[in-house]
Amino acid sequence: IKKIGVLTSGGDSPGMNAAIRGVVRAAITDGLEVYGIYDGYLGLYENRMKKLNRSDVSDMITRGGTFLGSARFPQFKEEATRLKAIENLKNNGIDALVVIGGDGSYMGAKLLSEKGFPCIGLPGTIDNDIGGTDYTIGYFTALQTIVEAIDRLRDTSSSHQRISLVEVMGRYCGDLTMAAAIASGCEFMILPEVPLDKEALVKELQRGIEHGKKHAIVAVTEKVTDIYELAKYIQTQTERETRATVLGHIQRGGSPVAYDRVLASRMGAYAIELLLKGVSGHCVGIQQDELVHHEIEDAVTNLKRPFKADWLKTAEKLF
Ligand code: ADP
Repeated sequence: IKKIGVLTSGGDSPGMNAAIRGVVRAAITDGLEVYGIYDGYLGLYENRMKKLNRSDVSDMITRGGTFLGSARFPQFKEEATRLKAIENLKNNGIDALVVIGGDGSYMGAKLLSEKGFPCIGLPGTIDNDIGGTDYTIGYFTALQTIVEAIDRLRDTSSSHQRISLVEVMGRYCGDLTMAAAIASGCEFMILPEVPLDKEALVKELQRGIEHGKKHAIVAVTEKVTDIYELAKYIQTQTERETRATVLGHIQRGGSPVAYDRVLASRMGAYAIELLLKGVSGHCVGIQQDELVHHEIEDAVTNLKRPFKADWLKTAEKLF
């Protein structure tokens, strides 16, 4: 391998830039050339890429988002599109590719490697929903952002004796919600992994009201339920003013926290090590603080982390 490409794909996350920087600097240190590919698989298909030097990633470690851009490009599921992508890579003399993204992006990388083009995936998503790793790049930053937002909600909810529902990202993974709820002292949480029991929720909220609690905050993972409808239901049942807040894309932005920068840097450098060893079709993870790599196929199918039931149990004791 002499020349590698790097791209970011799918939903962006804080720390993607730090990961690109890790890839670029480690590759150059090991004597490789690096090309940055714009806008994920879309830019790969459209042959939009540029050589990156050490200085092209200067100051990137602190920056949120991804300077290469990201995109959703469903056409990449078609074989002809992927063959064109490989042709572009080969025409530019690129031998291998690092893909930073979520499990959708991993599927693209897996299919390219099955066509004989070496690829390594890095877990770039705030959702912490990727198998074969304890944490994903961006998760800790998003968590911090959410906790700061809930702290603010707590101030105003408490002043007005309100119940607040706050919708948190995470797709089908409750990690962000659960950790944010514990860190910000929420009264209840609604998770994709646990069936929603509206009556238990109301009962818990009423118990708080009886004990003289000034506010209640309920953290809800996106997609589980319509939180505006749920707010109406709770208001009717408890006769307390109930408001819903959707944090939305605020959660994806901002300068990465130190741990995400460390994770991104280590994973970026590790991707180069793996490619130089001839590993392909694998993704990088961190498990028990050690860098690991697994077949992408395994990561997306059987290496899903079990639900952190002990976290929920602890949280319930502290409500
Ligand atoms: P994420 O990578 O964050 O999970 P997506 O699921 O949107 O985000 O995937 C990002 C991109 O990866 C898609 O827009 C598409 O270009 C590519 N992709 C997703 N799924 C597949 C698949 N099954 N085969 C090939 N490419 C895919």
